[in-house]
Amino acid sequence: MSKQRTLSIIKPDAVRKNVIGKIINRFEEAGLYIVAAKFKKLSRHEAENFYYIHKDRSFFKELVDFMVSGPSFIQVLEGDDAVQKNRNIMGNTDPKKADVGTIRADFADSIDANAVHGSDSLDNASKEISFFFSEIEICSKEYD
Ligand code: ADP
Ligand code: MG
Repeated sequence: MSKQRTLSIIKPDAVRKNVIGKIINRFEEAGLYIVAAKFKKLSRHEAENFYYIHKDRSFFKELVDFMVSGPSFIQVLEGDDAVQKNRNIMGNTDPKKADVGTIRADFADSIDANAVHGSDSLDNASKEISFFFSEIEICSKEYD
């Protein structure tokens, strides 16, 4: 297992529900460390650019509207196999299909308002982390 970093966003629906701490606890329980964080309301420009990969999808406008509807809690998670581990903890994009005990099964209401974002590959993790954080804002965990 190699140490990786991934980008996690606790989306506006979960922030509104006041479950930031409960979601962070899932990351910590899985052995992932928060090595950078910011609480931020995305501008429309930022949301459109962050989700540019989905620009031609039918749900793009709804996705952007949702992501600018309130603040998000944006973090860099670090740990062994962080990208896939985070995806496993998150659960399926559609909370109705997400496994019991995953974040989306427990905290998400719908495929639009699905509580969390997580990078889906190491390559995208690197791009998404640098979208929100500069290297000097990331305090890497020192392993023994
Ligand atoms: P994930 O967030 O699991 O990586 P995607 O990258 O496919 O999923 O989609 C990005 C986000 O777009 C999803 O988290 C969800 O908020 C939204 N989304 C995806 N598919 C749909 C859909 N069919 N209808 C509405 N929103 C969707
Ligand atoms: Mg995705």
